[in-house]
Amino acid sequence: MGRALITGGAGFLGSHLCDLFLARGHEVICMDNFITGSPENIKHLFGRDGFTFIKHDVTNYIYVDGHVDYVLHFASPASPIDYLEKPIQTLKVGSLGTHKTLGLAKDKGARYLIASTSEVYGDPLIHPQKEDYWGNVNPVGPRGVYDEAKRFAEAMTMAYHRFHGVNTRIVRIFNTYGERMRINDGRVVPAFIAQALRNEPMTVFGDGSQTRSFCYVSDLIEGIYRLLMSEEVFPTNIGNPSEMTVLQFAERIKALVGSTAPIEFRPLPEDDPKIRRPDIGKARKLLDWEPRVPLDEGLKRTIDYFRRKVLD
Ligand code: NAD
Ligand code: UDP
Repeated sequence: MGRALITGGAGFLGSHLCDLFLARGHEVICMDNFITGSPENIKHLFGRDGFTFIKHDVTNYIYVDGHVDYVLHFASPASPIDYLEKPIQTLKVGSLGTHKTLGLAKDKGARYLIASTSEVYGDPLIHPQKEDYWGNVNPVGPRGVYDEAKRFAEAMTMAYHRFHGVNTRIVRIFNTYGERMRINDGRVVPAFIAQALRNEPMTVFGDGSQTRSFCYVSDLIEGIYRLLMSEEVFPTNIGNPSEMTVLQFAERIKALVGSTAPIEFRPLPEDDPKIRRPDIGKARKLLDWEPRVPLDEGLKRTIDYFRRKVLD
């Protein structure tokens, strides 16, 4: 079935990708330096047939013995708090890390997929966001380190495709949630769920009128697999188009957990996008894909996961 290198494989999405690739009969080399991920996310895979782990910072030269059929570059801090705390590492893994992983794909003749993001659209002026929108990004704001690294990564991927003929894919991932997110990574899903489970106030930034569209992890991972196996070189959005305000989202989680704590409003972080919703027409048509897991079901599974973490 082919041997896949998954960078960032000990992170939230990377670990679910490792699971799916192994389940579909691939060999998996998981590469990570644990900067924001954890061995806990892949401990069930150690010793399993076809699974290898290499601890390595992918901004440095990457050596992999033997053939590689697929390279999926998922290494990068992904939560706004993480990339604000690690701005240089974020820029390096999006630029140097993308260069190194593309170089490896070229050497090995492997198919390549880069994890890009809805952040390439910045604070969008077009709604919902379609792949042909070029975005509204502040390069010198606090989020610029992430947004511009990912925009560079897309440009580098296209250059390796056009100039070196590497067989590349670009997925633009919209807010995804589920088991194995870090409880304190600052993203809204773990933040709200942990607060609700502890019956602490829910911290809504701004007036909570900004919108997001949340995709459950199994839906996203299936979409990524289909994109990798397709022939589409240009960027493809994968996410769930069901959009809501952050305040509505806080109230939904509060109700599902049964928390009685109040909602507290905090200042809106700089450049926080006001609206976000993927147009998934391209993925629907091209990959025959659309999300299947309803929000309440995905949230219940995620809440069960975090309940065990909060009790630990
Ligand atoms: P995560 O922080 O859980 O995982 C990232 C992983 O990359 C971690 O295990 C981390 O240790 C590893 N890593 C970072 N820098 C590295 C380096 N230099 N060398 C080796 N490993 C390194 O985040 P995630 O949510 O799983 O995100 C994974 C990818 O998906 C990222 O590229 C992110 O930009 C992208 N993405 C995620 C979302 C989302 O909603 N989760 C949305 C858009 C894009
Ligand atoms: N947010 C919030 N309270 C929190 C964490 C986040 O209101 O404790 C808001 C944040 O301002 C943003 C949305 O939730 O508008 C999603 O934030 P997240 O960090 O998950 O990811 P983003 O979509 O901004 O990259």
